[in-house]
Amino acid sequence: MPARKKRRVVVTAGPTHEHVDPVRFLGNESSGKMGFEIARAAARLGDEVVLVAGPVHRPTPDGVRRIDVVSAREMLAATRAAFREADVLIMAAAVDDWRPRRRLAGKWRAKDGGRETATLELTRNPDILATLARRKGRRLVIGFALETGSGVARARAKLERKNADYIVLNDERALRADRSSVLVLGRDGTTLRLANRTKREIARRIVRLACRDSR
Ligand code: C5P
Repeated sequence: MPARKKRRVVVTAGPTHEHVDPVRFLGNESSGKMGFEIARAAARLGDEVVLVAGPVHRPTPDGVRRIDVVSAREMLAATRAAFREADVLIMAAAVDDWRPRRRLAGKWRAKDGGRETATLELTRNPDILATLARRKGRRLVIGFALETGSGVARARAKLERKNADYIVLNDERALRADRSSVLVLGRDGTTLRLANRTKREIARRIVRLACRDSR
């Protein structure tokens, strides 16, 4: 049997933290589990894997090169550099859409003025998936969509808008759980429902899907 071509796969995982000051940030509940499982599954299949990880405490899967980042902008820079050399991008990270417009150098002391309310001005973060998929060429890009309620129409719209090849739709029950139910939507019309599976099983299926399409 001919040796399988080694693919280069970039996976993002975990939340981002968007700092207000040196000790406070906006963040989200992503555990990073799905992305780490995807990186593990790809490495076990023999792929060369770069894992761009937001702030989570998880061991790095064997054979995976890990780059730790904190904010969405750092994640964009690291992912862009890694994707330049890669065949596949899988964006499992829960990237914060907003960051504080200013990051204060010292602690935010809003209450010192005796006020009962304060306003935090936010600015949009870059959309990493949309930015990198715009010029993906023949490379394969897979995104995730976390929607509350039935989000199929929104996920389909995302597939188009972000120029992804697949979107993996899940809901907020997936956030800290070991099991999840997902619907994979493909640009080619594929729909694949994986109900109540472990994240490890889902990761394997996603990596195999990427395998099929990127050769
Ligand atoms: O728009 P929404 O956040 O639902 O899209 C989710 C998908 O887009 C995920 O794959 C996520 O990693 C990616 N994303 C991104 N940059 C953002 C927001 C989301 O790459 N700023």
